[in-house]
Amino acid sequence: MAYLSLQGINKIYPNGFHAVHDFNLDIEKGEFIIFVGPSGCGKSTTLRMIAGLENISSGEFLIDGKRANEMGPREREIAMVFQSYALYPHMSVYDNMAFGLSLQGVDEDVIEKRVLDTARILGLTDYLDRKPRALSGGQRQRVAVGRAIIRKVGIFLMDEPLSNLDAKQRVTMRSEITDIHRKVGATTIYVTHDQTEAMTMADRIVVMKDGYIQQVGTPYDLYFKPVNVFVAGFIGEPPMNFVTSTVQNGSIQIGEATLSLAELLTPDVLASYEGKKMVFGFRPEAIELGNKSDSYVLNAEVELTELLGDNTNVYVDINGTKSILKVDPHNTPKMDTKIDFSIPYSAVYLFDGETENVIETTKKSY
Ligand code: ATP
Repeated sequence: MAYLSLQGINKIYPNGFHAVHDFNLDIEKGEFIIFVGPSGCGKSTTLRMIAGLENISSGEFLIDGKRANEMGPREREIAMVFQSYALYPHMSVYDNMAFGLSLQGVDEDVIEKRVLDTARILGLTDYLDRKPRALSGGQRQRVAVGRAIIRKVGIFLMDEPLSNLDAKQRVTMRSEITDIHRKVGATTIYVTHDQTEAMTMADRIVVMKDGYIQQVGTPYDLYFKPVNVFVAGFIGEPPMNFVTSTVQNGSIQIGEATLSLAELLTPDVLASYEGKKMVFGFRPEAIELGNKSDSYVLNAEVELTELLGDNTNVYVDINGTKSILKVDPHNTPKMDTKIDFSIPYSAVYLFDGETENVIETTKKSY
């Protein structure tokens, strides 16, 4: 039996807006789950229903097999870290962390031990006497996390906890939060709109759009086995390139190239798509410049190149369709030239042009 179980959860706000549709998810004890998706997709609403801050319109939420829909936030034994970490400005780091336990009437010596232990885990031992204003953004964030983990609850919820930090601090805090999760072991649900955070931190990612779960899986699964165009385009930076085309005589036309889909699809599947639209997808990093074997070769015009150091992003136009290619910086094509590039059959994704769901190909090696 899963530790947390969300079964057919819906949220309809009092104004009639249906924010979360039929949300089903089982979470094991100790898992690090990330809800990711664009603004307004229902991530925070779902998290707030789990926290008990928002009531569940229908469906059942179980904690350790017990129905929790009607439990108050305290009864659920959940700690939450919000985007605005709301530290008490007039209190020291020590008191910020100790405050919740003092309110609960925990003995002073127990509090002291817990604060010192938590500070050690978070690298805050040297800052216990400081006020929040004398801390960096990352350190304040760690105090906010400390206030939550000091309560030693089993479930830890975080809503965009890194969004107030600058880019560098976010990278540092990502690995710190992963490290804290490893040490503390609490079941964690973390909300973000940033796919990089999701990819780098989660055991499993839940991708949401318009109130619906699109896919649940490990970072590897979402990157290599996306179920639809949305997930394929959301996970990965720069995103997957897509070209929509109509299947004619078992082939699609992309720019000057005619690509025979018999390389990727069984005759039956191919026949069922004759005359229909298909979306052809490939990741920027999957291509090679030049004409390679076991690949589709496309021709494109180079519009812009961006040297990033470890690679160059090449912005190309394939007969009106824009794409991005990642290439070796030592072998960057010149702007305003025409290039051939190859996409190995095994790196091609095909999607149904109507449903946008993935079509299984025969050449996938993973
Ligand atoms: P963000 O990243 O912007 O916080 P989100 O994915 O967390 O987005 P939610 O905050 O869960 O999205 O909101 C989901 C949808 O529900 C949005 O369209 C939002 O406008 C709507 N919504 C949120 N709160 C209410 C409310 N109290 N009443 C009506 N609609 C609401």
